[in-house]
Amino acid sequence: MIALSLLLATSFASPAQKIINLSIADNRVMQHLHELCYDVGARPTGSPELQKAEKWALAKFKSFGYNNAHLEKWADVPVGFQRGPNNSAKMISPRRAEMQFSTNCWMPGTQGPLQGRVVIAPKSMEELVSMKSSLNGAWVLSDAPVSMRGANIAKESVDLMKAIEASGINGVVFGSKSDLLHTHGTWKDKTFENHPTNVQVTVRKADWDMLAENVRAGKDTVAEFNIDNRWIKGPIEVHNVVAEIVGTEFPDQIVVLGGHLDSWNSPGSQGANDNGTGSSSTLEAARLILKSGVKPKRTIRFILFSGEEQGLLGSTEYVKQHLGELYRISACIVDDGGSNYESDASGYASWTPFFQPSFDLMTKAFPKMPMTFHPSTNYDASGGSDQASFWAKGVPSVFMGKAGTQQYLHIWHTQYDRYEEAVPEYLKQVATSMAVVSFNIANADSMMPRK
Ligand SMILES: [Zn+2]
Repeated sequence: MIALSLLLATSFASPAQKIINLSIADNRVMQHLHELCYDVGARPTGSPELQKAEKWALAKFKSFGYNNAHLEKWADVPVGFQRGPNNSAKMISPRRAEMQFSTNCWMPGTQGPLQGRVVIAPKSMEELVSMKSSLNGAWVLSDAPVSMRGANIAKESVDLMKAIEASGINGVVFGSKSDLLHTHGTWKDKTFENHPTNVQVTVRKADWDMLAENVRAGKDTVAEFNIDNRWIKGPIEVHNVVAEIVGTEFPDQIVVLGGHLDSWNSPGSQGANDNGTGSSSTLEAARLILKSGVKPKRTIRFILFSGEEQGLLGSTEYVKQHLGELYRISACIVDDGGSNYESDASGYASWTPFFQPSFDLMTKAFPKMPMTFHPSTNYDASGGSDQASFWAKGVPSVFMGKAGTQQYLHIWHTQYDRYEEAVPEYLKQVATSMAVVSFNIANADSMMPRK
């Protein structure tokens, strides 16, 4: 009887309700995320892992029935980067202790385990000269502040740092502000033949303090780093992954739904929440829409971008490659806020009817995860994620706001960006919301009003 009543409820339900019913009965967002995290892994743009992820996402779309799924090349990355499996950091003496570390991407590694005495960086050129013999083969502790993008060497210390790095050292060891290790980096100005050779590594604050205390106490302190950073000869082709369900009445008018497939890759990270979640939710939204049999009036185009972390590069190129059809894009909706549930969106007041009915339906289906539309007179979708590339060209664009228990700053670009941090209940809601919101905008009486 339960099955029959569900069947009856579904056959008379609105399209959006059909999507919700299917999602509640059979939601696979966590399966997609698990595959992405464990079969593919963390995926910086220009890494073999991103290439694998592109193929994986393409195969997923096809397996759902999207025969038009394809890759759109947006650039050649001149030199690829990969973090190999052999990463470790330890203090060897005066006692053994494991440490955690990261380096930025496109930075050199150690070519195997590299041991050396730990010394504290000289504070002046005079001090450098006086300690020169002890710098050879040393790991040098620098107290330069470290931000999300790496160590910040003060202008007046740049020459000194260069001199230290030219003294035959193993590398410079920075300390992060907390137990978080952030990763950033760029291939800009680098090639396979011509790239930095100075090893720079960041350890957690507690690990840096441990090394420094031992050195300051006059103990013979030895550390070993094995940093398995690998350069890959380019050019490496990078692509946006695209699939669409063609509209029944206005096939030329398009709603774009997506997020970015690329990620950072601190040792330990799987790129799970930034933005494996948005990618997996986009895939699941695509599956739910097709599988529930609903037919949107306008085309819904699903796009998984890359190069987001290097500055929205993939979406910027996408918009350039599709200039001629931007006027036909009704809206661009992006999910890139981690594992929390979709709680809100902002935009012009005239957009309220395009969102609030979907949000009301979603709130009814997921009462613990209420959704609200916030009308704004000075709305601006710049920055943050890939919707900004569309917004810059006048396309109505929205970054979905989020709420919930996940501490996003704990995982954001850190070693903790792992599958275990993802919240299944929330992500089911996200995938459903993405499907319902994009479907209802695609099915509205008109395109969304522009500025
Ligand atoms: Zn992101």
